[in-house]
Amino acid sequence: MKLGEYDKTVLVIGGGPTAWEMSRSLAQDGIPVMVAAPDDAERADMPSGVEWILGAQVTDVIGQVGDFAVWLKAGGKRFERRAGAIILALDANRQPGVLPAGAAFGERIRAMTEAEDVLFGRQGHPSLRRVIVLDRLDGLSTAASHERLLRFAVRVQEECNATVYVLTSQVKVASIGLEILYGRLRDGGGLVVKPDAVQVETGDDAVRIRFRDTVLDEDVVLEADMLVAAEDEAPSPELERLAGVLRIERDKQGFLQADNVLRRPCLTNRRGVLSVGSSAAPSTQWDTEQGVTAATAEIRELYRWIEEEDHPDTILYNRDFCAFCLTCFRVCPHGAIHFTDRPNFLPLACQRCGLCAAACPGEALELVGYEKETFFKTLSSLKPLDVEGSKRIVAIACTKSAGRVLNAAPADAEIRKGLAWVEVQCAGTIRTTSLLRLLARPGLVDGVLVLACHNGNCRSRTGTVVAKNLVESIKLLLRAIGADPGRIGYISTAANDEVELARQITAFRDGLR
Ligand code: SF4
Ligand code: SF4
Repeated sequence: MKLGEYDKTVLVIGGGPTAWEMSRSLAQDGIPVMVAAPDDAERADMPSGVEWILGAQVTDVIGQVGDFAVWLKAGGKRFERRAGAIILALDANRQPGVLPAGAAFGERIRAMTEAEDVLFGRQGHPSLRRVIVLDRLDGLSTAASHERLLRFAVRVQEECNATVYVLTSQVKVASIGLEILYGRLRDGGGLVVKPDAVQVETGDDAVRIRFRDTVLDEDVVLEADMLVAAEDEAPSPELERLAGVLRIERDKQGFLQADNVLRRPCLTNRRGVLSVGSSAAPSTQWDTEQGVTAATAEIRELYRWIEEEDHPDTILYNRDFCAFCLTCFRVCPHGAIHFTDRPNFLPLACQRCGLCAAACPGEALELVGYEKETFFKTLSSLKPLDVEGSKRIVAIACTKSAGRVLNAAPADAEIRKGLAWVEVQCAGTIRTTSLLRLLARPGLVDGVLVLACHNGNCRSRTGTVVAKNLVESIKLLLRAIGADPGRIGYISTAANDEVELARQITAFRDGLR
């Protein structure tokens, strides 16, 4: 794609502080920004040069980085806009935590969002002498929820001149800025305690809380004008719908990358679709700032990559063999296939994992650089060195993990003894025929290994599982025909795990007959 042929506008989805911060950062960098804000409230402080579409819902997206066609619904109309990249910047949904037995929300016991309205809203600060801030006591609070709790406590202290007691089961300083907040709280006379056996009594004029102080090991009673319960941070409900529209993955909690270190701090499985703040994971203010900075840099780098590098086709498609079954569309982990009357492979979106080619039942697809016949020739030419007393093993290794370990190991390292290997973009692309061809060389090859990334660490998400299942199915096949299933093995590894990989390869070698 040549310079000037694409729309550089970044679509930011969200209407709260994170979207505001994201659009400001992009605009400052000279990148055109359009914000689709789900609510229709005008904000006085919108960054200038940014187009805000209020009350907007993104209903459909097709295309690839540099060329997304986005359909929006706003003001009762449905219309199409173009965008070069998309950033999800929806703020978290806050849910009140579970109160101790006997306590119920009311005038004296409030969830934090409600307490913020009461204490810092338009009415001004009510007169308060003491406030208890109660964290969730099951030890599951996050650094993000803890930061919010501390900011709230410090604000109550400083703006309402009230004494604040923070009751928490753990003091988290695992994020930048938390220690400073603790310091401010303590300097202002605030108290942090680790309670056990908490009981709450609500009276007309005060709320009373009894607990065992686990540090002092004594029973304590505190009385306050208000008890404020911390809130859990959940993904915005809109995120689930948008993940479906954009074909991006969510983690177990429903965020876009809380449990995926490979995508931190702002990537998703789809190139050109980013996420920041509480769309990505429960986030402290610092996390959000880091995400915004990283996303701005990522957009700049993506646009440089589009403009300065070549983007040839990545997939060879043979229509004669295509059954139009949609399998490739379904397995592509990167949203790189657009289906019309045939699958269309988007070169800027494709991450060359090869899963589509491996899954295609008609063998209508080939990953450029890993064409079937060329790959078979490479496999046939693999000859493990004869090392006296050692079995000969051929491995097909994922280039992102085992391939790196093997290439970095010295030629005489134990891990390379009697081993020849070929690398693939993803172990999930290995075909049954490749493994059977290797196993059919008993004079030359004693054992065959598939070396993949650890589950959960696979850049193509499902590649590891596909590879493991393939090895299991071949073991079954070997068993069924009376051959030795121990001749084939599967090992998952990481790029920095030479010791464990060497141990497992040695164990496999020692088990060969
Ligand atoms: S998986 Fe293969 S056969 Fe099915 S639609 Fe895709 S290219 Fe065609
Ligand atoms: S190679 Fe991977 S990313 Fe590219 S189209 Fe096929 S499945 Fe999608």
